[in-house]
Amino acid sequence: SLLPPKSTGPRVLALANQKGGVGKTTTAINLGTALAAIGERVLILDLDPQGNASTGLGIDRRSRQKSTYGVLVGDYSLSETIQETSVPRLCIAPSTMDLSGVELEIAGERDRAHRLRRAVQSLGSDFSYVLIDCPPSLNLLTINAMSAADAILVPLQCEFFALEGLSQLIKTVEQVKATLNPSLTIHGIVLTMYDARNNLSAQVVDDVRQFMGDKVYQTIIPRNVRVSEAPSYGKPVLLYDLKCVGSQAYLRLASEIIQRERVLRAA
Ligand code: ADP
Ligand code: MG
Repeated sequence: SLLPPKSTGPRVLALANQKGGVGKTTTAINLGTALAAIGERVLILDLDPQGNASTGLGIDRRSRQKSTYGVLVGDYSLSETIQETSVPRLCIAPSTMDLSGVELEIAGERDRAHRLRRAVQSLGSDFSYVLIDCPPSLNLLTINAMSAADAILVPLQCEFFALEGLSQLIKTVEQVKATLNPSLTIHGIVLTMYDARNNLSAQVVDDVRQFMGDKVYQTIIPRNVRVSEAPSYGKPVLLYDLKCVGSQAYLRLASEIIQRERVLRAA
């Protein structure tokens, strides 16, 4: 069958938004670090050809001989690509630029939308969370992520056009749910780069809450220069400056997500 059953493996969350620069990668790295800090075993799966999650976690381009590209084209297994990071309990499956050509390479394959799902299922119980960092597009890579995921986590930047594109994203999630992955849900929406000195940020928070209700996490990630500096040191912000407001916000987001998971499991 095209739909292999899901195992009792990790919770798989895909960070998706077809807009670039909204905080997907930053959230993957720092939410992953925060979850690891509170005891979860986390894998970040870099599915963006830009490889920013890999670079931001200090994985040198030269040490990416095995990457998510090779997994999707069927050269080797996902577990062979996994590397440890400087954060205990946080691992990464890095990406390389050749991932940008994978869409054409697997376009003719019957299982082209399920390749990542199969790979993630092969992980077993080594990880409690897998966070997939998606590219800024609703392409076959993102469809693979949505097909592999239990739920979608949507980072939205607190800016004027925040809601633009959200309907399209939700529509895509609905299509994947109807065809490839019936149990897919939207886990939540995380507002990022909030600027308390800017009235527009507060207006955007109101609008998004109006539109998406309690799908929006209570935790809002502030715009914080420490958050944007950390990747150039190959570190998550929690290692770079644990006390800064950005690190503290990502710790709160991690506990909110775990709390939401408990509610979902009890349901
Ligand atoms: P995406 O993965 O959606 O393209 P990124 O996570 O790469 O977005 O973020 C885009 C840019 O914004 C990066 O330069 C990043 O360092 C910066 N950035 C993200 N979140 C914050 C934040 N909370 N405060 C300051 N800068 C941020
Ligand atoms: Mg990114």
